[in-house]
Amino acid sequence: MLSLNMESDEKKVENEKELFSGYGCYNKDWILLTNSQQKLNHLICCICKQVANNAVELQCDEHENAEQMYLAGEECLQMYLKQNNSKCPIQQHDHCEFVKNKSLIQQVSDLLVTCPRQYTLKKIQPKEEHENECNYKGKISEMKAHLDNSCQLISIRQIILLIKELQSQLQDEKLQTVLPLFLSFF
Ligand SMILES: [Zn+2]
Ligand SMILES: [Zn+2]
Ligand SMILES: [Zn+2]
Repeated sequence: MLSLNMESDEKKVENEKELFSGYGCYNKDWILLTNSQQKLNHLICCICKQVANNAVELQCDEHENAEQMYLAGEECLQMYLKQNNSKCPIQQHDHCEFVKNKSLIQQVSDLLVTCPRQYTLKKIQPKEEHENECNYKGKISEMKAHLDNSCQLISIRQIILLIKELQSQLQDEKLQTVLPLFLSFF
């Protein structure tokens, strides 16, 4: 059934947060499953190299004449500025100027993606047969509602919480009461 290596799986769980949290940029490999590379090329965050969430365009005078447009996910940029004394990620100059790019934000929200929990599950245990699968496909903008309301998979984070609880209960020798409950999830 479940053979989880707690430590490495916990690291992967952190990836799940990155994969779909509603904020932060979106995992490119996940989005590439249902979209062409070409379609994503102009949607990449210049800081994390993933697909920009809440895309902002860097419009500083310093690189006004650059041939390419510099794009970042809003959260990535805010974090970068905080950690780098407000220096622009492009040329490390002061006074980074950026504006929201509504059309790119819209393009990203409209990208079709598969269920992120299904993706994470396959990634963590690719060879295992999973009884429950979520074949949902929808726009990024609709994914939060899917995860909150209609997804049949529980998140790997919840599984690990359950196992932790089980382990602590084991120590308390209260297994009898928890085990049936735990098994009912599988
Ligand atoms: Zn980013
Ligand atoms: Zn700049
Ligand atoms: Zn789902």
